[in-house]
Amino acid sequence: MRKQVRIMGVPIDQVTLEDACNVFQGFIEGKDCRIIVTPNTEIVMEAQKDASLLTVIEDADLVIPDGIGLIYASKIQRTGLTERVTGVDLMLKILNYCNQHQKRIFLFGGKPGVAAMAGENISNKFSNINVVGVRDGYFKAEEEPEILEEINASGADILFVALGAPKQEKLMHQYRQVLKTKVAMGVGGGIDIWAGTAKRAPEIYQKLGLEWFYRLMKEPWRYKRMMALPKFMIKVLLSEK
Ligand code: UDP
Repeated sequence: MRKQVRIMGVPIDQVTLEDACNVFQGFIEGKDCRIIVTPNTEIVMEAQKDASLLTVIEDADLVIPDGIGLIYASKIQRTGLTERVTGVDLMLKILNYCNQHQKRIFLFGGKPGVAAMAGENISNKFSNINVVGVRDGYFKAEEEPEILEEINASGADILFVALGAPKQEKLMHQYRQVLKTKVAMGVGGGIDIWAGTAKRAPEIYQKLGLEWFYRLMKEPWRYKRMMALPKFMIKVLLSEK
């Protein structure tokens, strides 16, 4: 049975990476397109002001806690999230599964050429994965039907969407009835990581829960967005009874 906790009203699945992977395997055997989202603290804060984003998260089939702030909040509020589950790690698990089961994937998002590069690197590493389509993430609204057609015609089992949050979540939600893939997952910068155009923080930062700090050093212009983390922690502490 699905177990969710609410962090500032936003539902998050109480899962470990292993659990999330098992849930994914259930999705792949199903009929409809299932949506996986990976909110961090920024998104939880954004969902406070954006009701449509909250609906998107509420309707998602798997919501993994992809932010150390969510784990701290859950510890403070004793709601039971135990570990951070990142989209990047779940994507890797899914790719391993796809390799074992000869699945077809479609990579959608990133700057022109990035998804193709990621596709090439994934194919080189996983010889049994069939990358059946790639598409950059810069398009006009009127191009959306044609993009969906392309994804569906590719016969992909899994769609990875990297348009940045919350754009990717909203787009997956809007088209979930039309999509013929079994799973659509928002992966943020995940396609960039596979392309080699972005790097994950070294493991020591990940282990210490300081990935956000590494990102701030690498992309200081993001500081405004990242102010969501301290604001979020203050809110959590103030709401603690
Ligand atoms: N991106 C895209 N289309 C857009 C906006 C962003 O394809 O309209 C891509 C961008 O090139 C990058 C990825 O989305 O590869 C993630 O962007 P960002 O780091 O801004 O998002 P975050 O992961 O922080 O939500």
